[in-house]
Amino acid sequence: MKKDQLLTRRRALLAGAAAVAAAGTAGVVELAAGGKPARSAPPAGGSPAHPLPQKPSAYRLRPLTGYGGAPRAPHGTPVRHKPLMEVPARGRTMVLTFDDGPDPRYTPHILDTLREYDVRATFFVCGEQAEWNTKLLARMADEGHVVGNHTWSHPLLTRLSRSRIRSEIERTSDVIEDAYGEPPQWFRAPYGVWNRATFQICADLGMDSLAWTIDTEDWTRPGTGTIVHRVEHGAAPGVVVLSHDAGGNRSQSVQALRSYLPHLLDSGYQLTVPRRQYV
Ligand code: ZN
Repeated sequence: MKKDQLLTRRRALLAGAAAVAAAGTAGVVELAAGGKPARSAPPAGGSPAHPLPQKPSAYRLRPLTGYGGAPRAPHGTPVRHKPLMEVPARGRTMVLTFDDGPDPRYTPHILDTLREYDVRATFFVCGEQAEWNTKLLARMADEGHVVGNHTWSHPLLTRLSRSRIRSEIERTSDVIEDAYGEPPQWFRAPYGVWNRATFQICADLGMDSLAWTIDTEDWTRPGTGTIVHRVEHGAAPGVVVLSHDAGGNRSQSVQALRSYLPHLLDSGYQLTVPRRQYV
C-alpha cells in the first residue's frame, strides 16, 4: 500500500520545504524537511534559527560542503563530499550511536541502560531489521532517541547502481517513518563507505550523513574492558562513538555501555543526539 502514498507524501513535503527554503525562513525549513517538529529538545548551542556557535570551538566541524556556497538539495540539505565525523560541541558533549539493529536480543538492554541514566542516543537501523522490530522503533521514539537510516540490507554501496542505492535507502526510510513516526534525518553508509550518488540521494531525501570519531570495533568482540577503554580513552567534546546493537553477539557492547556510560557522566560529559546545524 503505503509505499506509494508515503512517497507521494514525501514529495509533497519536500516540495513544500523547497518553497519555504526559497522564502529563506531557516527554522521553518528544518520543520518542513522533517515533516514535523524535531522530537527532542533544541540543541544546547541554540535554536535551529541560530545554528552557528558564536565562537567556533576547535572541535567544530571543518567547513565541509554544507557550509557556504556548496550545492544543496531544494529543501536545504547540503550535498556533501564527506560525511560528518564529529558534532559541533560546546563543552563536554558526545554522541553515542548504535548500528545495524534493532535486535530484540540486545537493543532492549541498551535502551534500558540509556533510560536508567536518562541519556539519548542515535540508532542507525537497517530496514530488514527494523521491518520486524517496529515496536523497538516506537520505543526509541517514545524515549527520545534518534533513528537514522543505515540502508535496507547493509550492502557496500559503491558496488550498487544508483537505482539500487536509492531503493536500499528509500525503503528503509519508509519503514522508519511508519514505525518511528517521522522520516529519518540522518544517514550512515554501511562500512562507512559513501559515494557521490549516495550523498546526492541522501540530500534528495532530506538526510545528512554522519560517520563517527571513535570506532569501538565491538563487532570483533574484543572484550568488554577493551570496548570500555576505547570509549573512555577517546572521549572528547564533539566525539561520535560507533557501537553495534545487532549483526552478531553484542553482549559485550551491552555490558560495556553499562560501564562507560556512568563513567562519562561522572566525568561531566553530556550525551546527546546530533542536530542539524544548517538550513
Ligand atoms: Zn553497519
